[in-house]
Parts: sequence; structure tokens; C-alpha cells
Amino acid sequence: MAETRNIVILGASYAGSGAAHYFLKHVYPHLPKSSKVTYRVILVDPSAKWYLRHASPRAIASEELMPTKHVFLNTVDGFKQYGDAFQFIQGSATSWNPETRIVTISTGHGKEEQLPYHALVLATGTKTTSPLFSLQGTPHTDIQAALRTVRDQVSRAKKIVIAGGGPAGVETAGELGEMLNGSAGWFSSWPSHITTEITLITNSSKLLPKLRESIAKQAETYLNRVGVEVRYNTKVSSATGPSNGKTTVLLHDGEELIADLYIPATGLVPMSEYVPSRLLDGNGYVKNNPETLRVDEAGPMVYAVGDIGTYSRNGIMDIMDGVPVVNSNLKRDLLAAHENVDAKPTGPDRKWKATAAETQLVPVGQSKGVGAVFGWRVPSIFVWLIKGRTFMISESAVKDSLMGKNWEKEKAWDGK
Ligand SMILES: Cc1cc2nc3c(=O)[nH]c(=O)nc-3n(C[C@H](O)[C@H](O)[C@H](O)COP(=O)(O)OP(=O)(O)OC[C@H]3O[C@@H](n4cnc5c(N)ncnc54)[C@H](O)[C@@H]3O)c2cc1C
Repeated sequence: MAETRNIVILGASYAGSGAAHYFLKHVYPHLPKSSKVTYRVILVDPSAKWYLRHASPRAIASEELMPTKHVFLNTVDGFKQYGDAFQFIQGSATSWNPETRIVTISTGHGKEEQLPYHALVLATGTKTTSPLFSLQGTPHTDIQAALRTVRDQVSRAKKIVIAGGGPAGVETAGELGEMLNGSAGWFSSWPSHITTEITLITNSSKLLPKLRESIAKQAETYLNRVGVEVRYNTKVSSATGPSNGKTTVLLHDGEELIADLYIPATGLVPMSEYVPSRLLDGNGYVKNNPETLRVDEAGPMVYAVGDIGTYSRNGIMDIMDGVPVVNSNLKRDLLAAHENVDAKPTGPDRKWKATAAETQLVPVGQSKGVGAVFGWRVPSIFVWLIKGRTFMISESAVKDSLMGKNWEKEKAWDGK
């Protein structure tokens, strides 16, 4: 009987799904076919659906503006095209032994599976404080329930407090502001009628840490135009509730804000509980080689891609650039070890290089936005066209993501 070598990928979101599609399109076809050894990809995630969380600010505001079916993609549907080369396990990695090369997967109801791997790709990402902005390492139904609850609260809220001056906070405030309060007229800086008081709180002296001061100020102007007040240098100490429909938000200086809805849009926590602590940095991210993206201290053929790896600046660009690097090095490693599992590849590895900083597009409501691309400030209309108009969630874009069309072309490199 042929030996089956498992390429196990943990996490099936932007990074894990991307890595799996890229592997099945561009690496798998080049692996030697023999009666002795076969390869298969096993993708593992507790959620059967991939949450397109970059669109969550609009999904929070309204089902009509961002239908649930557009932001939750059925993972398995995208992989049927690869037949037996692919398997999906709905489950969560609970522990990992790099010495025995086995990952323990909990598949629910107390059941566990011991999954041996030949190669392992860690792509379990980060979760946000609020379940509205990310999967939490649990089934997608938890997030859908949270979205239903918040939309109901939004429809009745007279006072909303949002904490966090990064893109999640700014975009959410902008979406809610424009939907609930409308927008200021040509010669005004504030809407004529405020239906819902919205306050965006940041502990920093500016919004949008990745963008320069003048762009961040423009974001504030746009927020004001949809009735959002920004409070700088203000820290939320605690939030209690909701109780009787109200949440008490305590600020660092003792002031209390009573809100009908409080949304924390702060803090990212890496989902790495299953990873041995010696492989993590002080913040819980998996230490990977910033050039090869291998997890050098975890033995051969272990890689990290996406938010979970220390190489990443927690954005999709680092996934778009990281997936080809992981796959090129994985291909080199697999080919070298095909006959002799201890053999290592010769020649140079593919190396990851960070793209220029200051690349970020931040829609503020349905018609405005701020941002920069490769250090160049871009006009509001550009942000609207590329991101704000649909949050890149058109029917065809969603289908392309699901089917891995974004990875149809192999990204060339010198060592190929
Ligand atoms: C509101 C918001 C807007 C954003 N907008 C943008 C944007 O416009 N542009 C941009 O570049 N970036 C944006 N980002 C950042 C971007 O969403 C992340 O960089 C991206 O989601 C990271 O993808 P990932 O696959 O690495 O991890 P995640 O998306 O966090 O996915 C991790 C996956 O791993 C699974 N998982 C977790 N634990 C386990 C386990 N133990 N076993 C198996 N599976 C597990 C989870 O269920 C999940 O499917 C935004 C983020 C937020 C919150």
C-alpha cells in the first residue's frame, strides 16, 4: 500500500485557504507520482465557513448593505475541484508535538483525532476582542449570532461607543454614522440631524497608526461629517453590561459613558494556544524565519503564514506575498525529501520581502475614504472605488476567493 504523506494546514481563512489553493494548483502537480508515496492536503478549521472579516464593519451595520451570505464562504465548496488530493477536517488543533510530528485535533463532543504530518503549515491567525470582527477559533455560527444581535442593537441605539482608532474602529464608526445619521451637506462639517450619538475613542493622539498624521486627520473630518465624534488620548478602563440594554463604559479619568451599544475594536490575540510555548514570541505569535517563513525551531517542513507568524504585520498583503514563499520552499523541501525523508534541498530558498509601509485603504462610510498605497496618498474616490464601494465583496470577487482564482497564476521567482 502507498504511504500517504499529509500536508496539514491549520486554519482555513485568508492564509490557510490561500496556502492550500496555491499548493494544489502549483506544487501538488509537480510532486513525483509513484505507487509507493502519495501526498494529500488536510485543511483543518473549527469553522466550516471562512469569514471575510475585512468586510465586517459594513456587516455589523446592516444585513441589507452586506448580506451574511456574501461574507461567509463555504470552505469545502472551493476545494471540490481537487478531488482526493484534498480533505477538510472541521476541528480545532488543541495540541501539537513537534517531536512526534502529530497534531491533536478536537472535532467536538469530546472527540479527538491524532493527525500525523509530513509537512505542517500554521495559519491560525488572530482573534479580536469582539466576536464581530473575526472568527474566534469556534464555528462560524457564533459570529453569525453575534452579528444578528448587534444589528438589532444598532437599529434601536441612541448612543454608541466604539473603542479603537485603528481601521476596524474607524470603518465601523463610519459605516454606522452614515447609515444612522446620513452625511453633512456641501458647506457643513456635521449632519443636520443626529439620530444616534456615536463616539469613537482612541488612547492615541491620532487615528490610523499605519497612516501619516494628515491622512488620519482627514479620516476624522469624514467621521465628523457622518456624526461621529472622536476622542483622543482616552483609554477605556472597563465596560460593564449590557444590563437593561445599557453598557457602562468607564474611562481612565473616571468618566462614565452610558451606551446602548459598546463595540470594542481594539486588540488582536494570536490563536496559538496549541503551539508549544518555546516556539512563541512574548506576544504569543509563532516565531518564523522572516525570510523563508519556516518555523526553524519546530523541525523540518514546518511553516507559518498570515497573522500567526512573527513575519506578518497583520494584513492581507503579507499573506499575498507570504503564500508563494511558503509554497516555493515547501515544494523544494518535499522534492528533496521524496526518496530520503532526511534529505534537504540544495540551492537558495525563496525569501519573503516586506512591501513598502504605508499601504492601507480605509473607507469612512459608503462614499468616502482615506489611504495610501506604497507611500503615496490616494484620493477618497480611489478608496471608494477599490474598497468602500463593495468592500471587495462583489458576487464575482467572492466566487474568485472561494475557488482560489486569486492564486491561479504562480508567482514567479528567481530560483524556480
Ligand atoms: C475589521 C477588520 C478589517 C480588516 N481589513 C483589512 C484590509 O482591508 N486589508 C488588510 O490587508 N487587512 C485587513 N484586516 C486584517 C486581515 O483581516 C487579517 O490580516 C487576516 O484576516 C489574517 O488572515 P489569517 O488567515 O492569517 O488569519 P484569520 O483570518 O485570523 O483566520 C484564522 C483561521 O484559523 C482558524 N483557527 C483558529 N484557531 C485554530 C485552531 N486551533 N485549529 C485550527 N484552526 C484554527 C480560525 O477559525 C480562522 O479560520 C482587517 C482586520 C479586521 C479585524
